[in-house]
Amino acid sequence: MLYRRLGKSGLQLSALSFGAWVTFGKQVGRTQARELLALAHDRGVNFFDNAEIYNHGVAEQVMGDVLADLRFPRDSYCVSSKVFFGAVDKPLPTQRGLSRKHVMEACTQALQRLRVDYLDLYFCHRADADTPIEETVAAMDTLIRQGKVLYWGTSEWPAEAIHEAHRIARENHLYAPVMEQPEYNLLHRERVEVEYAPLYEAYGMGTTIWSPLASGLLSGKYNDGVPADSRLTQPGYEWLRESALSKERIGKVRALQPVADELGTSLAQLAIAWCLLNPHVSTVMLGASRREQLEQNLDALELLPRLDASIAQRIQQVVEAG
Ligand code: NDP
Repeated sequence: MLYRRLGKSGLQLSALSFGAWVTFGKQVGRTQARELLALAHDRGVNFFDNAEIYNHGVAEQVMGDVLADLRFPRDSYCVSSKVFFGAVDKPLPTQRGLSRKHVMEACTQALQRLRVDYLDLYFCHRADADTPIEETVAAMDTLIRQGKVLYWGTSEWPAEAIHEAHRIARENHLYAPVMEQPEYNLLHRERVEVEYAPLYEAYGMGTTIWSPLASGLLSGKYNDGVPADSRLTQPGYEWLRESALSKERIGKVRALQPVADELGTSLAQLAIAWCLLNPHVSTVMLGASRREQLEQNLDALELLPRLDASIAQRIQQVVEAG
């Protein structure tokens, strides 16, 4: 495994990490989750990502039960949660958002579900137009001083709001966000590469990037239709199917396949290794609904040294033209 610093912080995360969205508590029960987490940890993965909203708290319960059962030393891995959307169906105004009340209560609940004493990383899952940023920054600072959270960050906040959070933290001697959690993959690059560019320099922020395969699309599995047991057939994720599948996106995926063939690798491995060419990516968060996927995706690291500038340029041309 390769380890990278989370921005300028001293925390070193595995370059490939593992998340629970859609899968844990829906496609994947406790037995399979145990197998996946054991495999990941065995291969050097030290960061497991979760959120209050994932299957309405069930994903955290499954992960917590399995982590307790596996008895990994607590100092051998990091676990995260994210607050904003709420953990219940149809949340009341106090059960969602980034108010001090919900941030504090959501953290307590995540700790209980995950069965840990502290969260290594805690994210504000989106920006909250109904809460002053001052209130959220202060709540996160409180959690860190209470020892319930080690590092806090944002997920998909506009760069402007992140600048504001840093200004507030600096002026009030509060802990500032250390990392962002944005989507980043061959089909979705703008925010990480352009909008956030000033943040890395100004604050040394790291990124824990999500959907490296664009929900599986970049494995090529959707090129000829939607397989029956895949993510895009899951009830409740119709919205994802709408946004993920388009002729243009499938066209780009098809055009990338020859590059993977020439390298003798799978398209999924190429897409994952490509994310790591960006030095501002601290960790690529993988998703997997079965063991073979996770094994294949973890092997993407072996491809990384072979992705030289000329191949990177070729990939770029294919994606821009496709
Ligand atoms: P991916 O884009 O890699 O999608 C993962 C899914 O793709 C798997 O569950 C599986 O779906 C399919 N897949 C994975 N590997 C392969 C393979 N080798 N061949 C074929 N199919 C494959 O990542 P995620 O979208 O899951 O994102 C990763 C993590 O990021 C999440 O688990 C979550 O922790 C986090 N995240 C954060 C968000 C945020 O807003 N902060 C939003 C979304 C995710 P299947 O088998 O069902 O088809």
